[in-house]
Amino acid sequence: MALQDVLGQERAIRLLQQALTRARIAQAYLFYGPSGTGKKLTAVQFTKALYCGSATADACDCCVSCSKIDAGNHPDVLTISAAGSSIGIEHIRTLQHHLSYRPYEQQRITVIVDGCELLTAPAANALLKTLEEPPDCALLILLTGKRAALPLTLTSRCQLVPFQALPPLHMQAIFAQQGLDEAEASLAATLSEGRLDAFAHGDFAQAVAIRDQAHALLSDLVQSQAVTSFLQARKLAGKREQCDELLRWLALLCRDLAVLKTTPPRNLYNHDLRRELTELALPIPAEQILEAFAHLEQQRHALGMNLNPQLIFEHVLIHLQHLLTTKQA
Ligand SMILES: [Zn+2]
Repeated sequence: MALQDVLGQERAIRLLQQALTRARIAQAYLFYGPSGTGKKLTAVQFTKALYCGSATADACDCCVSCSKIDAGNHPDVLTISAAGSSIGIEHIRTLQHHLSYRPYEQQRITVIVDGCELLTAPAANALLKTLEEPPDCALLILLTGKRAALPLTLTSRCQLVPFQALPPLHMQAIFAQQGLDEAEASLAATLSEGRLDAFAHGDFAQAVAIRDQAHALLSDLVQSQAVTSFLQARKLAGKREQCDELLRWLALLCRDLAVLKTTPPRNLYNHDLRRELTELALPIPAEQILEAFAHLEQQRHALGMNLNPQLIFEHVLIHLQHLLTTKQA
């Protein structure tokens, strides 16, 4: 693939293509916008286009340079991402060390720093020093989903390249490219909310399976017959990531139940379940659905604070059952 094949980010791509055709490449770029909108993909395609051995302004996708970048083994391209929950000073020292050499094969050394909102304060300071006096050969591409979390001293030294949540039609086209049929691609586009990484822990089918499990569990809870779905969900909830996924879906389903209580109902997140959810929402008072939603969000937060997923999950179930089966007097 090449830069021109990146879908749904016309503004960002145009900006970068202009830089390439005019041969006016900034020393530092900041790609910012929601996660899962193709920032890293674009950074890679931009680097390919810049280094490409062909005579065109975009990547040819078949020369030695393009192939090496695709394979992640080009000696003049370094990618830094967070190890765990932060990017520390040692990462930035690696970056500086890398930039202290001459490029092997190209005019430039490109360093892509993914997740800049995770820079620790000392790391951000060290990076700022590099941005203040970058070596001539340096091209820094910083990526962030949270531009506001970065110090202004840092962002002001970069050329800003905005990325947007992808429109549903583009998402649908991308999911169709990935092999989903028309109905699945349409559902995936809705469920992803414009983010390509929305299905964080596996593919679309797995995401829908967890969604369906959350739906079964919620229905059973409302009808006070949660034994089978409880046992299945309990297995799933043992792992932190899956537990979070399950709680996220329960929250989104509760959000839809709450929406169905408003007149006229707005768009549903799980639009394919409209009939089932309408029925489910009928006996439950709106305040209790909202309380269930708030509780789920709170418990997802607790899960993020490293509390035991199994315990959180069981706590959630007891609380939800109480909230969703207590009828209004
Ligand atoms: Zn090429």
